[in-house]
This record gives sequence, structure tokens and C-alpha cells, in this order.
Amino acid sequence: MNSILEKIDILSLSYEELESKIIEMGEPKFRAKQIFGWINKGMWDDEMKNIPLSLRNKLNEVFFFALPKIERKLVSKIDGTIKYLFKLHDGEFIESVFMKYEHGNTLCISSQVGCRMGCKFCASTLLGRVRNLHPSEMLGQIISAEKDTGERISNVVMMGIGEPLDNYDNTIKFLRLVSSVNGLNIGLRHISVSTCGLVDRINDLANEGLPITLSISLHAYDNDTRSQIMPINNKYSIEQLLCACQKYFEKTSRRISFEYTLIAGKNDTEEGAQSLAKILKKYIHSPCHVNLIPLNEVKETGLGTSKNVTNFKNKLLSLGINATVRRKLGADINASCGQLRRQAKEETI
Ligand code: SAH
Repeated sequence: MNSILEKIDILSLSYEELESKIIEMGEPKFRAKQIFGWINKGMWDDEMKNIPLSLRNKLNEVFFFALPKIERKLVSKIDGTIKYLFKLHDGEFIESVFMKYEHGNTLCISSQVGCRMGCKFCASTLLGRVRNLHPSEMLGQIISAEKDTGERISNVVMMGIGEPLDNYDNTIKFLRLVSSVNGLNIGLRHISVSTCGLVDRINDLANEGLPITLSISLHAYDNDTRSQIMPINNKYSIEQLLCACQKYFEKTSRRISFEYTLIAGKNDTEEGAQSLAKILKKYIHSPCHVNLIPLNEVKETGLGTSKNVTNFKNKLLSLGINATVRRKLGADINASCGQLRRQAKEETI
């Protein structure tokens, strides 16, 4: 038997790639469609009811199939939000959050094990980045959550652990896989990719022709403030970032959403709101939206949540900037990302 490392990660293959492997194995083409359908439902081996034993044995020789396993699951008593701690085949942990909205179920997924972006307020980055997730592991979070809940997931946000654009090729491959008509078939318009602002990668993404929603973690209105809380700002200034956003809109016609986490005493004053409105109007000549997020306190960071959220929002609105405050789901299960994985790691050390 080949070891797992020599085998092909079947769930990371596109439909076309799987088809050519199946043909190479001397099997008829229609098997690819059947197998692709099964694995996207999380079924393998004897669960693939119309695949003969001889072919299943061959598949096991050539491919490996592994879904993220539920290590821990927290269900909110308030709103039914579910937080999953998943264990990957190599023992690493990641998190996903399942949320119910009127327009359907949303899953927030991770893109890396840990993160190396170093944002000062974020729990996911405290222990650095361990590795990138493969496309199969991003897809696998959705498949495992659908299997567990028995419900279809219609929206995906890449706002869990990791920086999706720091794992660019795998993220792009995942986006093509998840929207495949023979697979999960989740429309790209129902998918948001959130980034701390890797400008070169935003430029690349604009050329991919993927109608996703891009969310920018802005969190500040000037370079001084942004560099204090987000080290990526030392590489790309806020002006460079906003210019890239404007170019992205011109190329894709997709409205950009800005995330702004309000941190007490750092970025939450009324003057701050004024400066934010000014810089957005200067650089963004397209419809945009600011999503205000009250900080989820992470004890190691020493940063506190703002008491000025409503004032900040009203100031932006009065200056003609479209702003909303993110509804907090799963308040009783600490649903902000990175915290469960950190707990699990601490327990195993
Ligand atoms: N790396 C990507 C996606 C992961 S973070 C990014 O930076 O966008 C998803 C969102 O949660 C980002 O807007 C991030 O800045 C925000 N976030 C991280 N930690 C937070 C915290 N403790 N409280 C509130 N928002 C937080």
C-alpha cells in the first residue's frame, strides 16, 4: 500500500483533473461524475453505492480521502450558531462557524492552520502560522458541517483562521471547486473572501474573473493607527490598499466591503469616523460598505471593546458612508475565531 503522502488528495482535484485520472486508470468517463458527486457529499469507499468493489479498491490505492473530523462542537443556546473545532489528518486543529440567517446557512471557514499576519487584536495569529490548508481541507469544512447538521450551506465566508490571500493558489482552487456544478455548486456571489490587505494579491484576484465579494479588514483611518495594529500596513500603505480596492472594483464591478473592528482608545473616536469617511471618499469612487465589528476581547492582547460603536456608526452615516454594525451571533460560545484552537493546543502541550 502506498503511504498517504504518495497518494493523490482526491478532494483537491477539479472535475476535469479527476476525469483524466479515471481515464488513465482505464475506467469509463462516467465514473468520474459519480465519484466527484460522492466525495462532495463526504462519501467514500463502501458509501459510494454504485461504484463496484474492484474500482473502490483501485481508488484506495491511488487516492486518499479525508474529511476534517469534529473534535469539539459548541452550540449556542441563543441563536443555534455552531462552532466546530476540526482535527485534520495530521493532527492540526482549525475552526469553522455555522450561522443561520433568513437568507440561508452560512459557514465561516479557515484557510490556514494559524496565521502569520500578526494583527494585534486577533487570537488566530498568536502562535504564528503552521501550514496552509489544501483546497480539500477548505472544502472539507463545508462537507463535514453539512453532514453534521443535515442542512445545506448556501453561503461561505473566508473569515476564519488564516489569511486566504497568503494561501493564494489553494484559495483560488477552492473557489473554483466549491462553485463546480458537479460538486457543492455554491455560487461565487454567495462567497466572501476577507483579507488584511495583500495588495499584490488583490491585483491578481481582480484578474481571476471570480464574482466573489471581497472584504477588506481596514480597521483604521491612517497609516499611524493601522501600522500599530496591523503589521501588513508597513508593507502596503493604506493609500496603496485603497487604490487597489478602487482598481478591483473597476475591473470586476463587485462592491467592496470594509471591515472595521472598533477598539477602545485606538480607532473609535468621532474624529476617527470623520477621517475614515474622508479617506474612503478620496480613494473609493464606487459604492462601498463599512461593517463595524465590536472587538471580541482576547485576553492576551490587552485590547478592549469600544463603547462608542453607535456614535461611530451614526457619524459615518451622517457623512454619507453606508455603515452597519455586525450582529453578534453565538455570544455564549465565544464564536470569534482562533480561540478554540488555542485552547486545544494549550491542553495538549
Ligand atoms: N485574514 C483575513 C480573514 C480572517 S479574520 C482578514 O484579515 O480579513 C476575519 C475578520 O475578523 C477580520 O476582519 C479580522 O480583522 C477580524 N477579527 C480578528 N480578530 C478579531 C477580534 N478579536 N475581534 C473582532 N474582530 C476580529
